[in-house]
Amino acid sequence: MTSAHTALLEHAAQGGRISSAEALELYRFAPLHALGQAADYARRARFGDQAHLATYLIDRNINYTNVCTTACKFCAFYRAPGHAEGWVRDTDEILRRCGEAVDLGATQIMLQGGHHPEFGVEYYENIFASIKAEYPQLVLHSLGASEVEHMSRVSGVSIEESITRIKTAGLDSFAGAGAEILVARPRTEIAPLKESGERWLEIMEIAHGLGVESTATFMMGTGETNAERIEHLSMIRDVQDRTGGFRSFIPWTYQPENNHLKGRTQASILEYLRMVALSRLFFDNITHLQGSWLTVGKDVGQLTLHMGADDLGSVMLEENVVSSAGAKHRSNRGELIHLMRTAGRTPAQRNTLYEIIEIHDDPANDPVDDGVVSHFASIAVDRGVLPILTDS
Ligand code: SF4
Repeated sequence: MTSAHTALLEHAAQGGRISSAEALELYRFAPLHALGQAADYARRARFGDQAHLATYLIDRNINYTNVCTTACKFCAFYRAPGHAEGWVRDTDEILRRCGEAVDLGATQIMLQGGHHPEFGVEYYENIFASIKAEYPQLVLHSLGASEVEHMSRVSGVSIEESITRIKTAGLDSFAGAGAEILVARPRTEIAPLKESGERWLEIMEIAHGLGVESTATFMMGTGETNAERIEHLSMIRDVQDRTGGFRSFIPWTYQPENNHLKGRTQASILEYLRMVALSRLFFDNITHLQGSWLTVGKDVGQLTLHMGADDLGSVMLEENVVSSAGAKHRSNRGELIHLMRTAGRTPAQRNTLYEIIEIHDDPANDPVDDGVVSHFASIAVDRGVLPILTDS
């Protein structure tokens, strides 16, 4: 490691801002252990007397339709309109899934789905209002800039009107999905019909201004260059400087099965870990950083806790989108707690706002066999019944 690298890492670890050029230099050439050490220092400095904690969430992803007009090449989930395998879940079924999630202690629902050609703002208003009427305790952390762009077009209204209306109906915050990679060249390669990266950010900026915060994500490994990876981070950091509305950053790796892009993920585990550490150092203005055990596996997910991550996201009572493209990792609450504890951290359950719900500081009191388990599709709440996996 050069003295210049050491100086840069010390500067960033202490909360100093690094430029995109400096970030690229560190991402490409700094030793992994030095990146991780600096990122962990930055995490501990940021969280102070809470730095011993690592957090998780209980939520359920509910997919309302797989019908989509946007045809992203990396997506294994969608079906084109008219396709025999297209489906739409009705409100009763969505409510049933919310009820199951509530029974298992979920605090958050993430509605995710395709850009159905007939789903305008009214559709989402109805869904959100129905869920909030029945389960007011559930936080609706759902959709994202892509869905807002789509529903606004279908309904012929402004972005501001769409966001205001779905917020009024019950939306609490936007998920960071749809960001993929924001940089024009690789984004056009993998999602030619999706809104531009600039537009995605513009919509998120409008949302933040209207009081709807969000997360931000990065799907690594579809053929982008190292410089484009850093540019993605930089585009998000610029908006965050203006809004402060991104609560967390979540990098994850492209899953190459069952889609049109295929190939292989071009983000190795080491590249992924370097990105996690670099993200902690680069984002002096985003508090939380999430490790993606779903896409890189539980062991690597655990390692992220030593690379600057403070959170392992959700148990995910249900997830079908990334799973469709090959992510087969599954977990449960006990396992996530174990991963955190054996990483030297105290596990804690959080809510969407990262407020701590429960600290698991005594293994003797850990929840046991409580049914909080990842599934591909519907959940059998009855502990004596096997998960129902018939309707994915
Ligand atoms: S990623 Fe989303 S927008 Fe793209 S094809 Fe899949 S469902 Fe449609």
